[in-house]
Amino acid sequence: MKIDSYHKILTYHDFENVSNFEKQLQIISRLPKVLVTTDDGDLSFYTNAFPLLVKYNIPAILFIIPSLIGTNQPFWWNEVYHYLGKAAGSEKIKELKSIPNQERVDYLNQLRNNAEKPLLKQQQLTVEQIHEMQNKGIVIANHSFTHPMFDQCTEAEIRSELQNTRAFFEENKLNGYSFFAYPNGSHNAVSEKVLKEEGIEYAFLFDHKISHGKRNPLRISRLSLNDYTPIWKFKLILSGWHSKLLPITKSIHQILKK
Ligand SMILES: [Zn+2]
Repeated sequence: MKIDSYHKILTYHDFENVSNFEKQLQIISRLPKVLVTTDDGDLSFYTNAFPLLVKYNIPAILFIIPSLIGTNQPFWWNEVYHYLGKAAGSEKIKELKSIPNQERVDYLNQLRNNAEKPLLKQQQLTVEQIHEMQNKGIVIANHSFTHPMFDQCTEAEIRSELQNTRAFFEENKLNGYSFFAYPNGSHNAVSEKVLKEEGIEYAFLFDHKISHGKRNPLRISRLSLNDYTPIWKFKLILSGWHSKLLPITKSIHQILKK
């Protein structure tokens, strides 16, 4: 897949509003140079998005978390919501993204061990489903082995995330190891260096921007949206105006708050 030939790269996560997503794909199918990417490998990609991407022949990358494939283990942020509830959970997730990785891992272990609720289960993609999608042209790619924040990891932790992922991709004959999406878009100089050394060719951010001019292949911008993004807003995002207006509307909100 030649990333340079795509002008607009979209990022999705999960898919519930199938009819709205199909309307979005109908628009994409009339435009050149749009690439659909999806982070985390939620099962709803397979059930709801994959059949439509094939139907409209739209190029797509799915960034998976290999440690979860074929299990019923949840995404770690879903566990935090499960045990703490929505409001406290979302505060805690923010905090966990900004502390050293080992502290986040220790906290999650404690949370599970001390939980009074039953452990959360989440059905994940299987290797068979992933092969079926790869055979139909979906690029199966690398979202790290366990989804830590790379800017909170040690160099050794980053290296082991990538090496474990590489082993999984080789063992299962998957094609997209060298395409990498930073979990949460979090990156720094150390992670970029290790990525290069571990054979990553393209790294994708989560910055809600259209990339202009010559791209740094290890900092590729993406636009974020959802399956339920209304069509008027979807068109605005694709036009590139939304990401330009966003900082302005944010600063207006800040001024109004004062
Ligand atoms: Zn992610």
